[in-house]
Amino acid sequence: MSRLADAHPVLRLKPGREKSLRQRHPWVFSGAIATADLPLESGATVDIVSADGAFVARAAYSAASQIRARVWTFDPREPVDAAFFGRRVARAVEARAAMQDARHTGCRLVNGESDGLPGVVADRYAETIVLQLSSAGAEHWRDAIAAALAATTGAACVYERSDTDVRKLEGLALRTGVVQGTLPAEVLFAEDGLAYRVDVAAGQKTGFFLDQRANRAAVRALAAGRETLNMFCYTGGFTLAALAGGAARVLSVDSSADALALGSENLARNRELPADRVEWREADAFAELRKLRDRGAAFDLVVLDPPKFAPTAAHAERAARAYKDINLWALKLLRPGGLLATFSCSGGVDAALFRKIVAGAALDAGAEASVVGQFGASADHPVALAFPEGDYLKGLLIRKA
Ligand code: SAH
Repeated sequence: MSRLADAHPVLRLKPGREKSLRQRHPWVFSGAIATADLPLESGATVDIVSADGAFVARAAYSAASQIRARVWTFDPREPVDAAFFGRRVARAVEARAAMQDARHTGCRLVNGESDGLPGVVADRYAETIVLQLSSAGAEHWRDAIAAALAATTGAACVYERSDTDVRKLEGLALRTGVVQGTLPAEVLFAEDGLAYRVDVAAGQKTGFFLDQRANRAAVRALAAGRETLNMFCYTGGFTLAALAGGAARVLSVDSSADALALGSENLARNRELPADRVEWREADAFAELRKLRDRGAAFDLVVLDPPKFAPTAAHAERAARAYKDINLWALKLLRPGGLLATFSCSGGVDAALFRKIVAGAALDAGAEASVVGQFGASADHPVALAFPEGDYLKGLLIRKA
């Protein structure tokens, strides 16, 4: 089979299947491939050509995944080597320069496909960078990517959290641990001037949900004097934000005892905050919402930030029932004039469907309510226009009449 001058193995597409790539979408599904120069090692760099042999993209091959290749570059003259990763990482890091200062020392530095680095996520917590590699190509270039992150940021430690289940789809084993430098005894960082400790080794995702930064700021600005319920509070992000904004009380509920313990520790770390206004409660959200209602509890502000109920569209129906349920009970618990900040981080539920679900919940709760604001992921989580799959976080600010 023919090879291009730089001698990468070639994946030839079926007729017409280059269309999405020409629109800069970075994935090649197995069904689009006509022939491949085999055998191919997972993670190897390949040239994708159209049925008539024209160059389309240079990509990483993944033998196990339905997403058989992920694009590194659409430029036929651009080699994929350590210098390539140096440039892409530097571009991503530079784009975040204005998003970090003394009040904000946490930031997503690399956001996968939307930063031209499929399968690569890097979150910065002050001097520690947490790296998550979830594709065969990212895995193949692990050393170059880690070195580029350390060099461009000067961070003291790069810690790997490549333990997401999606790695299994790529045929990759799970791996965690220090890649470069030494992990500090405590990883601390600041968001909006508040101090947090992150458990980078065992916490969820890379340890903190940086994507909610702007939305926590929004809640902080709305919280004054409000009795608040923070459901799915994890390590206290929205709790501390609401309290800093003058909330009268915050009931913080999560099913994870570890998360609650760290939340309480984070609150204590910020001595200027009135810790006696917060209660941490370990409970299942679905049961607790009903229990609160049974006891006649009422709130002026409710935050609902549940885990991903629908990773893909295939789970959308069951997820819709779960979203409807929690939103229905949250709306019942709101006093007139109360605010609900409700989120979904499910890729399988888009913004339009989420709004329909919340509308259904309001109807069944017998609540008259309107949308007074909309939320998305913070600016350090860009979504490439060519990659709508990257737009996973959506939220609504609802006011009950
Ligand atoms: N709002 C948080 C992030 C929430 S992540 C922040 O700003 O940091 C989702 C949280 O939901 C996790 O902490 C997880 O432990 C919790 N969770 C998952 N299922 C739950 C359930 N059924 N009831 C209560 N909490 C649950």
